[in-house]
Amino acid sequence: MIQTQPLQPGQVAFVGAGPGDPELLTLKALRALAQADVVIHDRLVSDAVLALSNPEAELLDAGKTGFGPAMKQDDINALIVTHARAGARVVRLKSGDPGVFGRLDEEIDALDARGIDWRIVPGITSATAAVAGLGQSMTRRGRNSGVRLMTGHDVQGYADHDWRALARPGEVAAIYMGKRAARFLQGRLMMHGADPATPVTLVENASRADERRIATTLAALPAVLAAEAVDGPAVILLGLAPRAAATLRLNRQEVS
Ligand code: SAH
Repeated sequence: MIQTQPLQPGQVAFVGAGPGDPELLTLKALRALAQADVVIHDRLVSDAVLALSNPEAELLDAGKTGFGPAMKQDDINALIVTHARAGARVVRLKSGDPGVFGRLDEEIDALDARGIDWRIVPGITSATAAVAGLGQSMTRRGRNSGVRLMTGHDVQGYADHDWRALARPGEVAAIYMGKRAARFLQGRLMMHGADPATPVTLVENASRADERRIATTLAALPAVLAAEAVDGPAVILLGLAPRAAATLRLNRQEVS
């Protein structure tokens, strides 16, 4: 078995925490957490995952809320740099996969500028966990030969996309940070000819004990979102409906 070099003092590991269920951590992630002196984590990292950190490690919350950061990116960069320079083994723990809407590059640049060693430990991104929860596949022969991971909003506001391509029948997209952008997304897609009956499923708290799946259509999406209080992190899956309930029995989460 290949084993990565243990994290050395002064090094940083960007670790994917997965969508919340600690059993979805990789072995590499688990090892890095056990070796860490300092764990700097995002708001969306679950307590169950944090609990697997080295019991001696200092846990620091660099949490940001969806709109308006609680901690500025520069301050987070400075926090990582300070601990690495002080000789700590630093785990920068990000929800899902660190390379998917994770502001990873900003943090890598800050470390590179100071000659600090880093590595990336990938994780299961919330979209794959959400799709698995529906009993579905991301790609399927004859339906979609590709899939998009998109954000509902970016630094400039609502994110722009290739709407015409997305509006085609059979397209599948996982929309992160999409709750507030739902009406905008729906409008753009319908304007470009998307079928109003296109299935859309919103998955809140994917992989967690409180996972919720709301199956709807493109036409009804904004109304459904307004009617349901969706407070947790959610991925909107365009073009996917849950597989028929009867076959989903064995795919349910075991809640212990
Ligand atoms: N790096 C993360 C994404 C960070 S952006 C990843 O790979 O998953 C934050 C967005 O991720 C949230 O707005 C939400 O859209 C999504 N998200 C994170 N955790 C989630 C979860 N457990 N269930 C559903 N969506 C989640």
